Amino acid sequence: MTATLPTAYCYDPFNLRHHLDGHPENRQRLAGAWRLLEEDGILSSLLAVPSLPASDEQLLRVHTRRHLENVARAAALEAHLDADTYVARDSEQAARLAAGGLCQVVDAVLTGRARNGFALVRPPGHHATPDRGMGFCLYNNVAVAARFAQAEHGVARVLIVDFDVHHGNGTQDAFYSDPTVLVFNTHQYPFYPGTGHWREIGHGPGAGATVNVPFPAGVGDEGYAEAFDQVLLPIARRFGPELILVSAGFDAHWNDPLAGMQLTIPGYADLVERLMALADETCDGRLVFTLEGGYHLQVLAHCILNTLRQLSGVSDAISDPLGPCPWPSRRADDVLAHVRRAHGLS
Ligand SMILES: [Zn+2]
Repeated sequence: MTATLPTAYCYDPFNLRHHLDGHPENRQRLAGAWRLLEEDGILSSLLAVPSLPASDEQLLRVHTRRHLENVARAAALEAHLDADTYVARDSEQAARLAAGGLCQVVDAVLTGRARNGFALVRPPGHHATPDRGMGFCLYNNVAVAARFAQAEHGVARVLIVDFDVHHGNGTQDAFYSDPTVLVFNTHQYPFYPGTGHWREIGHGPGAGATVNVPFPAGVGDEGYAEAFDQVLLPIARRFGPELILVSAGFDAHWNDPLAGMQLTIPGYADLVERLMALADETCDGRLVFTLEGGYHLQVLAHCILNTLRQLSGVSDAISDPLGPCPWPSRRADDVLAHVRRAHGLS
């Protein structure tokens, strides 16, 4: 029944106005991916939804008013929020469109117009904490969308899966004491931003609803698949999500210029397949991806294309111009054992 519904996406060229020459998180990331999707022809089989800007009310469910004022002020001055995080004149509006675009894709899924979706947005969001932008992120798109689903659609429990190579510290902060939003993170550790130890499991009523898998550099397809099978799946089944959001960062690829993990493009596709199966099993397939990092332009574009092919079922083909990782990958059995123990799985 649900298989006949389309996959939704949002893409707004205004997001390209958030740009700084020479910065790794620049407009070429999204523009290049969009070109590949147009060349491929997949867009005609998907449902396009408009990227409405997130309202103050929607942003304030996650962020402080002071943070909103800081971002607006930085945009007026074209100033950085920190050494990594630029704010161009149109960046505040672009960030609102990123968060709001993701909410619109979530809305399409929760109102039954789409089976699943992917928000093709930037700036990314998962490092933005309730009161601070950092790590290329201004507003926390995925956190705003989780609260949107709860507040405007009555969704009780949201699972956020973050496979970006960097720990999603902002998302963790937003829900650290909240048992209704389960945040699962795989990331290189120690690495930017420094958080995400397996001992960070949540606080108070949220204890157990934060799950961190801190991988050493060099873990590849096998380690990620094991983390999903041995940690994510049993914890997600126990939690029973009504919606799954994915902070999709493609910077854990072996050729990414910013990080040191060894996922391949087919390895990413395997994770997407696991997430689709999990969504089918737990929440009628309600699965929405949002773009986070990924700084090798070709890897990023092809991972987005493959994910859309998988979500929509239009093609089984995995497009991989980069090929397998040339180096042996590291195992992560000890990390997974720690995480499983910390969450009562063994
Ligand atoms: Zn990242």
